[in-house]
Amino acid sequence: MIRPQKKLLFNNRLYYLFFLVSYFVIPIYYGIKFYPGLVKFFLSAYLLTILFCYFIHAFNRSKNNNISFEKDKLLEKINILEEEAKKESYRLSVLSDKIGRYSQLQNLMQILMQSLSLERTAKIIIERIYALVANSNGRVVLYLLDTQKQALTVYKSLGAKNYPAKDIGADIFDSWVFKHQMPLLVEDVNGDFRFNIDKNYALRRYLGSLISVPLFVGKRIIGILRAEHSERERFSSEDLRYLRAFSDIAALSIDNARLYQYTQQLAITDGLTGCYLRQYFMVCLNEEIKQSGKEEAVFSLIMADVDNFKKYNDKFGHIAGDILLTEIAACLRRCSPKGKSIISRYGGEEFIILLSGFDKKQARAVAEEIRKSVEKREIVLRRMKNSATMSIGLCSFPEDGLSGEKLLQVVDKRLYRAKSAGRNKVCFS
Ligand code: GH3
Ligand code: MG
Ligand code: MG
Repeated sequence: MIRPQKKLLFNNRLYYLFFLVSYFVIPIYYGIKFYPGLVKFFLSAYLLTILFCYFIHAFNRSKNNNISFEKDKLLEKINILEEEAKKESYRLSVLSDKIGRYSQLQNLMQILMQSLSLERTAKIIIERIYALVANSNGRVVLYLLDTQKQALTVYKSLGAKNYPAKDIGADIFDSWVFKHQMPLLVEDVNGDFRFNIDKNYALRRYLGSLISVPLFVGKRIIGILRAEHSERERFSSEDLRYLRAFSDIAALSIDNARLYQYTQQLAITDGLTGCYLRQYFMVCLNEEIKQSGKEEAVFSLIMADVDNFKKYNDKFGHIAGDILLTEIAACLRRCSPKGKSIISRYGGEEFIILLSGFDKKQARAVAEEIRKSVEKREIVLRRMKNSATMSIGLCSFPEDGLSGEKLLQVVDKRLYRAKSAGRNKVCFS
């Protein structure tokens, strides 16, 4: 609070001028001119006047000093108050920001819990974090743990298109989070004593600062969620706290989506060979016929049956028979074109493969490769090398039939013909 100023005596230069003229200049002039004898009297009077003026001046100066001191103190107080008001308004804005962010979490939880696709769940997580903490020149990366390899792999990332996260993979910071199973805030990648990194590394990765948190389901770590930026000090401990809160929801929804995917997969695949079940294959076949009919495209079917499997079972036992079936399934996967084939266990030791976009000539090459590769395979049982062979029937759409039923009939007949012709053969006409 500003207090009123103290009153100063004769605090005006005009007073001094008045004193000078009326008590000094005029009397001296007239005194010397008319009463030279009174000069001493005048001089004493002047002296007193000067002393009086000096006293007034000194008094005012001390008051002035007091006033400016008070003023400084007040200014200082004003400055402190202004600073506090600024801090308070910053705290308020951070708080309202926080409230906004955390209320979004609730909303996000509902969205994520409804998503049963891993792809969609990952997309929502990445986009939300990107919007909140990364912004321009930033990137968000979701790593998932490959349980077989025990390694982190980039599942999805967003931002910094010129520096694809998939090309670089997990680095020293991700290993730290994975090893310590703790959240990590690195304000300056080049200046953090915990990480001894080559400066070019940060440049290469276009990396200035980052935050990273482990994704836990119970005590099991399933991945890492990381936000990074090309600039230093881009993230605060508040950002890290938020990411941590977010990671619990993200981990749960990822696990949920994976579980759903897994049960779906279980419902359509055969437990022994990992190939699709017949029912699922039929759905795919009908879909392929519709699609190929519309686009005037071709596809082929391969039906393969293990030769004399009953004898094999009788000789080595049912378990050995099962092992042979899984090995044959692996052989079929190896020889079939990736992304263009659907391999199904059609019956006991009978497999069917749909080759999308493959005409008869191309399909024959695949069938021959399968036949040869099964024949070449050797299994040691009872200290004896054993091998199996397969007979194969082949047909193509639209050449051999336009409906699923017709195509299956044709391919089955050709398989039977391959058997009749002595087994270990491919029959395509
Ligand atoms: P062919 O050359 O004419 O096909 O003779 P094959 O002995 O292979 O044919 P068959 O149909 O007579 O025998 C099939 C055998 O496959 C009968 C069955 O015991 C066996 N089998 C079917 N499913 C399985 C399975 O999941 N595991 C094992 N180990 N054997 C199976
Ligand atoms: Mg058989
Ligand atoms: Mg059979």
